[in-house]
Amino acid sequence: MGKLDHKVAVITGGARGLGQAMAVSFAKEGATVIAADMSELTYTEKNVFGYHLNITDVDAVKAFFDEVVAKYGKIDILVNNAGITKDSMTRKMTDEQWDAVINVNLKGVFNMTRLIGPLMEVNGYGSIINISSVVGVFGNIGQANYAATKAGVLGLTKTWAKEFARKGANVRVNAIAPGYTMTDMLKSVPQDLLDDFAKLTMLKRLGQPEEIASVALFLASDDASYITGQTICVDGGMRL
Ligand code: NAD
Repeated sequence: MGKLDHKVAVITGGARGLGQAMAVSFAKEGATVIAADMSELTYTEKNVFGYHLNITDVDAVKAFFDEVVAKYGKIDILVNNAGITKDSMTRKMTDEQWDAVINVNLKGVFNMTRLIGPLMEVNGYGSIINISSVVGVFGNIGQANYAATKAGVLGLTKTWAKEFARKGANVRVNAIAPGYTMTDMLKSVPQDLLDDFAKLTMLKRLGQPEEIASVALFLASDDASYITGQTICVDGGMRL
């Protein structure tokens, strides 16, 4: 018996990094996982299926939604995980940097959830997990665009927790705010800065993708059946 037997899960940005760790752990617990990503899957796992999708493309998201519902009849779990950074000090930040990050990290989350949330509401069941960041909770120098989106998804989390359950549906919406976790996203960050980030945590180390995935699995499953509208910081006790 798996914790997610018979469940259908959509994970955006599921081709690598945190999305990969979540897709693999959900599939191992019995879920059918659709890893929706602009990139090809970097791994193979039984019951994880890649789907080429740019979450900023409204028409493509609609086509994706129609195809998944036609094939599986439902979506039980949505993880809004796809995200990008385009860092710059505010005085130097270009419109392109601002718009690109808002479009993926905030509008992309809206594009997915405005279709899948109401479907869950009609079906009477669902768990949505938004991947925020410590940067959305504490702010960070050089990341005004990213911080705005990651704080924004915390507002969306609370709003959707209220909206999708208001007629009595068992739809829960929560957020995870990861600290610095070893994925490709950190590839461009110099090692000395990563060492500084590690020192800022109580556990004196960076996170591993599996340590985010285990919390996502908990929130996705009925183990978290009375938890909604919450943000769980998974950051080793970090203070920026
Ligand atoms: P990553 O760069 O390794 O993976 C992100 C994935 O999202 C990639 O596969 C990419 O192709 C996909 N993606 C990007 N834009 C997309 C789009 N428009 N449509 C579909 N897919 C798209 O990053 P990661 O570290 O795995 O990050 C996953 C999430 O976790 C992001 O939202 C990120 O902001 C958040 N996060 C990461 C960290 C960290 O330290 N790694 C910390 C806090 C929060």
